[in-house]
Amino acid sequence: MTNITQQRKIVTEVPGPRSRELHARTTRAVSAGVGIGFAAYIERAGGGLLTDVDGNELIDLGAGIAVTTVGNAAPRVVQRVQQQVADFTHTCFMVNPYEEYVDVCEALNELTPGDHEKRSALFNSGAEAVENAVKVARSYTGRDAVIAFDHAYHGRTNLTMALTAKSQPYKQGFGPFAGEIYRAPMAYPYRWAGGPEACAEEAFSTFVAQVHTQVGEQNVAAVVLEPIQGEGGFIVPPPGFLGALAEWCTRNGIVFVADEVQTGFCRTGDWFACDHEDIVPDIITTAKGIAGGLPLSAVTGRAEIMDGVQSGGLGGTYGGNPIACAAALGAIETMREDDLVGRAREIGDILSLRLGELAERFPVVGEARGRGAMQAIELIAGGDDHSPNAALTKAVSAYAQTEGVVTLTCGTYGNVIRFLPPLDITDDLLHEGLDVVAAGLEKLA
Ligand SMILES: *Cc1c(COP(=O)(O)O)cnc(C)c1O
Repeated sequence: MTNITQQRKIVTEVPGPRSRELHARTTRAVSAGVGIGFAAYIERAGGGLLTDVDGNELIDLGAGIAVTTVGNAAPRVVQRVQQQVADFTHTCFMVNPYEEYVDVCEALNELTPGDHEKRSALFNSGAEAVENAVKVARSYTGRDAVIAFDHAYHGRTNLTMALTAKSQPYKQGFGPFAGEIYRAPMAYPYRWAGGPEACAEEAFSTFVAQVHTQVGEQNVAAVVLEPIQGEGGFIVPPPGFLGALAEWCTRNGIVFVADEVQTGFCRTGDWFACDHEDIVPDIITTAKGIAGGLPLSAVTGRAEIMDGVQSGGLGGTYGGNPIACAAALGAIETMREDDLVGRAREIGDILSLRLGELAERFPVVGEARGRGAMQAIELIAGGDDHSPNAALTKAVSAYAQTEGVVTLTCGTYGNVIRFLPPLDITDDLLHEGLDVVAAGLEKLA
């Protein structure tokens, strides 16, 4: 456990003078294209706290975008990484293989949904995993088309930019994009024209009709979907939508790819978000929470699909680096032994309760939604006017930051505040962080 006392502490303006000094250097040294949401520079972290360079202790409700799910500098991760870095740092698995890579693949094959025969391959980032899932699906099916959804986020490489829905800032000026990517409407209950009750069925029938008329099922290699959309606004599809899609894919010989880069590894109160409705995807992509902060990602899928690729067709210099693998083994051990699925559910109960209260108390909170330790509030103009309120979202988030609570925003319309705490946060810190957000709404709404 961390030796940082689990208490929010503000000793300077946030960001403070040391952070501001560093930020001036950042402006001169780092590309302006790398946007920084909150310029408090961090020097230590553990539990629910980030310690900045001015000595402020900030409550972490973002976990580095759902990455430090097991906690920052989690003991089992640190121990395994230290051992591995002293043993050897790199060989390239395809040149001289090592056991840790195999251990991670075995764990993924066991933990991901479905008890069929599986294979995995390891990469460095979420985007790289999604790209490789598309490569595998195209190779296996001999087809080109890929269907992605409104509000989707799958990364920033050329192919994944094409899959990602939102133009600003992710795609603006970066085209042309990869071809044969088609977009379908997402089952977004809160904003579904026919109302939330009709959403699952109408979204699915629209999907089927659009693919049939605009693409042709016989041309589709893969359908790629986040089982709860992350960057797009923590959109939870209504029950039945995912299952209907998965079943339709099977019927049409299409590879169903669940992008669980953000939802995976205990985040939603299950090992994977697909588990909630017993959905078994053909391929699942993982990254973020997999290795306690070290860069690692994976593609796991049905053996016949994953083995359909020619030898040498998948890989890369660093994919499945031994230190990242050691970190993943430490993270997975922590999730198992500390029952982080259970802890994510406990955190989920607190979040549901507190965010639900905000939705009742403030007319500008249109909806509270999400699952487990992945929940959010969507801010609107107020009452019956559901117009997205991006300005208030920005203001409340900025207020929380200056009060020492790190929050993240998201959403196609920039009007969602998302909560992704590390699972080793204390209940007290979580409540305190939410109190600050509530105070921000009180003050600014
Ligand atoms: C973050 C994210 C990605 C991209 O991961 P990177 O590691 O940033 O490349 C892909 N898919 C989803 C669902 C994500 O949340």
